[in-house]
Amino acid sequence: MPKGESYSKVKNTVKKHNLHTICTSGNCPNIGDCWNRGTATFMILGEICTRSCKFCGVKTGKPLPVDWDEPNRIAESVKLMQVKHCVITSVDRDDLEDGGAEFWAKTIKRIKEENPETTIETLIPDFDGVEKDIKKVIEAKPEVISHNLETVERLTPQIRSRAKYRRSLQVIKQIAESGITAKSGIMLGLGETEQEILQTMDDLLSVGCNVMTIGQYLAPTVDHLPVAEYVTPEKFEEYKNIGLKKGFQFVESSPLVRSSYKAENHVCSH
Ligand code: SF4
Repeated sequence: MPKGESYSKVKNTVKKHNLHTICTSGNCPNIGDCWNRGTATFMILGEICTRSCKFCGVKTGKPLPVDWDEPNRIAESVKLMQVKHCVITSVDRDDLEDGGAEFWAKTIKRIKEENPETTIETLIPDFDGVEKDIKKVIEAKPEVISHNLETVERLTPQIRSRAKYRRSLQVIKQIAESGITAKSGIMLGLGETEQEILQTMDDLLSVGCNVMTIGQYLAPTVDHLPVAEYVTPEKFEEYKNIGLKKGFQFVESSPLVRSSYKAENHVCSH
């Protein structure tokens, strides 16, 4: 069971400011480790997602109206927690005309205003591939923008609802072309082959992705997709070395790696 002074401080700050984290909403196995290091990944735009991906533990349904004070509370919490590198993600908001892009921009702006020394990483949805919406996040200038492919191309239709592999690559391309560090991640253990993993690496590199994360898929509940395979730590290490050799600036690859795990290491130099 996670505990400790820092853990309690993060927990209390999140609760007091009525915020959500993907750490709890996604049943992340690293919560004790991350929260004790004083880091957490805030999840904005509520805790109900309009999509229902087969791997994800976040609730699905009709989201509540947007809470425009949330960016202020996030900014204040980042300050209280003295976060040096702040990671933000969101649920998908296909119910909003801009997918929540304006809200994303406001959140980044408020964090920067209150915490000028803090670097920001945003793990964004695909915004249905709408370039002007993605541009709003880019123009708010976080240091890193991450968009996960989640899995290899063949398995994407079974695993992600609505999102498409090629469209996600296009999102990553737009991020990379803006000059901001582009990051992406996949989960292993969903039935992908080694050849498909290597192809995914090549696809990411071809659109300018600098940072890749690779972790083991764990089924959040029995109603989610079952784990097809537990990949050995040695194999994860092998993928890390292959990825670095292929040209990624950083590759985090081990069973417990999540997109936001030790994200503070991924602020690239250009
Ligand atoms: S890996 Fe990410 S989601 Fe998991 S506890 Fe750490 S910050 Fe939260």
